Amino acid sequence: MLVIMKDHASSAEIQHVVDLLTEAGAEAHLSQGEIKTVIGVIGDREVIYRLEFEGLPGVEQVIRVLKPYKLVSRDFQAEPTVVRVRDTAIGGGAFGVIAGPCSIESEAQMFDVARAVKAAGATMLRGGAFKPRSSPYAFQGMGVEGLKLLRAAGDEVGLPVVTEVLDVRDAAVVAEYADILQVGARNMQNFMMLDELGTMDRPVLLKRGLAATIEELLSAAEYVLKGGNRNVILCERGIRTFETFTRNTLDLSAVAGLKLLTHLPVIADPSHAAGRRDLIAPLSNASVAAGADGLMIEVHPDPERARCDGPQSLTPPAFAVVMDALRPRIALEGKTLGGGK
Ligand code: PEP
Ligand code: MN
Repeated sequence: MLVIMKDHASSAEIQHVVDLLTEAGAEAHLSQGEIKTVIGVIGDREVIYRLEFEGLPGVEQVIRVLKPYKLVSRDFQAEPTVVRVRDTAIGGGAFGVIAGPCSIESEAQMFDVARAVKAAGATMLRGGAFKPRSSPYAFQGMGVEGLKLLRAAGDEVGLPVVTEVLDVRDAAVVAEYADILQVGARNMQNFMMLDELGTMDRPVLLKRGLAATIEELLSAAEYVLKGGNRNVILCERGIRTFETFTRNTLDLSAVAGLKLLTHLPVIADPSHAAGRRDLIAPLSNASVAAGADGLMIEVHPDPERARCDGPQSLTPPAFAVVMDALRPRIALEGKTLGGGK
C-alpha cells in the first residue's frame, strides 16, 4: 500500500501516519521529496487493508496495491491447478470440452446428444436441470428427473457430467448426480452458495457474471478456495456491452488475463457469449489461441425445437466439424484433449 501525502504536508502529519502504521505492526518506508512525501507500507495484508488513512490530515491518496484475493493468485501458487474428474482433466496441459444441451428435455434428447458429443471427442457432458431463466414463464428445467437422465446418459457413454446448482438448497442433491457443479453467471456473487460449495468435494465451474470484472470473478473463486475446495474452473461466458449483434461480448482479454493472474483453469463458453451458432467455430478457435484450458459448447439434436438457447446450439454434425478444426489448434498450444488418457 502507498500513502501519498499532500504537497508540503507537515512533519507532524507524516509522523502521525507513521505512528499509526507502526502501532498496527507494519513497516513505513518514507520517500521524501521537497514537496511530496510518499509512504510505502509493508506488512500483513489483512491488517494493512483494514487501516483507514483516507481523510487523515495531510493525506492526499491511498493506493492499495494488494489484491482482494490470495489463494487463487499465481503469486500464491505458481504451478497450474489441474482439475481431475474420473479419467479426464482440465488445466495444466489438459484441454477439456464440455458439450451438451442448454437444458435436459427428455431421455431421447439427452442420450442422442451424449452419444454424438462423445463420438465427436467431447470430454464432458453438460445439461441444465435447474435453469436460470430471465422470465418466470420460460421453461425452468426438469429438476431431479433431469439430473437422473444426465447421469444415466453420461454413464452410458463414459463422460463425467456438469450441471448448474441454481440454489444453495439444491447443492446436495445436485452433487449426488453431478461430477462438476456449475455456478451460473447470475449466481457468481451468491456468496452463501460459494461458501457452501467451498465445503463440498465436487469441483466447481464458476461462470463470470454478466457485468463482473476479472477481479470480482477471482474474488468469487476465492470464497470457494477459502472453504477448502481447491478445484475451481473459471469460465468466461461473455459480458454485457453496447454491442447487439451478439448476445454478449466474448472477452478474450479476460481469458488471456486470467491465465496471467491465476493458477486455476480457465475455459470459454462461446455459446452464451455469441448467442448464435455461426460464431461458435471462430470463437472456439480464438479461445484456444488466447490460452483457454477448455470450452463449453451447447449442442442439441434438434436446435429448432430446443426449449432453451436453440439459436446458439450446434447440431451434432456441426459440433463434430468444430471439434475437428480444434484438434490441431489444441495440439499447437501444447495441450491434449482430456489430458491424453
Ligand atoms: C448455461 O450454461 O446454460 C447458462 C445458463 O449459462 P450462464 O449462467 O453463463 O448464462
Ligand atoms: Mn444455455
